[in-house]
Amino acid sequence: MNKRRKVYEGKAKILYEGPETGTLIQYFKDDATAFNNEKHDLIEGKGILNNRFSEFFMTRIAALGVPTHFIRRLNMREQLVRKVEIVPVEVIVRNVVAGSMSRRLGIDEGTPLPRSIVEFSYKDDALGDPLVSDEHITALGWATPPELDEIVNMTLRINDFLMGLFAGIGIRLIDFKLEFGRHIEDGMMRILLADEISPDNCRLWDFETGEKLDKDRFRHDLGGTKEAYQEVARRLGLLQEASEPLNHTGPVLVSEN
Ligand code: ADP
Ligand code: UDP
Repeated sequence: MNKRRKVYEGKAKILYEGPETGTLIQYFKDDATAFNNEKHDLIEGKGILNNRFSEFFMTRIAALGVPTHFIRRLNMREQLVRKVEIVPVEVIVRNVVAGSMSRRLGIDEGTPLPRSIVEFSYKDDALGDPLVSDEHITALGWATPPELDEIVNMTLRINDFLMGLFAGIGIRLIDFKLEFGRHIEDGMMRILLADEISPDNCRLWDFETGEKLDKDRFRHDLGGTKEAYQEVARRLGLLQEASEPLNHTGPVLVSEN
């Protein structure tokens, strides 16, 4: 094993220094956490699936013209990404009322929204990721007004794309969370979509049955979390590849783009 410097270990992923300046390796763990880390378990194989989900969504989102941190998948659990300075805000999109919005406002889960809502919460586990407004974000300097505009525009494009993609495989995209960051390349700073997109940070309900196919199965002890993730992967045509041994490529030169 080559020695790599661990940059950060989070609840679901580990970040290592990448082979080139400005890159990182994202390692996807099997750990599942909920309720601000009060609930913790291992879901065998989740990291492998989430690595593959993220590759799939990030690649397609980049093809729309929305820049992402993803460079390439390295092996079953790792992907090479561009290192960003994370904007400390979770960007949440809601198409249907669920989760904290339902609890906070007393609206039934499953109530469709007349238009998509973008919400922000401040990324701080100790504070429980509190809901904040765009005014907090710009006044406290977490992002400039033009950066926030760009983040919201990118988020709405991603939502349109993902809603259509999931509808095509019989799944309702209820809500999801995104993270963005600043990346400097050739002296130019740009905002990139970062982190991951997987059933860990989306709510996905089967159109026909309403069955939950996401991390709520783990949060609410519904059982079958891994099977639900596999079902989403199967519908997207990813399962075969995820279960096959993948070539373990070592560090490879990263192209300029
Ligand atoms: P948490 O930090 O909430 O426990 P994870 O276990 O998913 O979450 O850790 C991944 C961490 O890496 C997150 O804090 C996320 O903001 C950060 N991150 C994601 N993508 C990048 C990137 N391209 N560059 C730098 N940091 C990133
Ligand atoms: N979410 C996330 N990480 C968080 C908080 C929320 O990925 O720290 C996702 C969650 O999976 C859901 C959406 O964001 O798809 C909205 O979550 P909500 O605010 O309803 O929070 P919850 O009910 O999970 O506390």
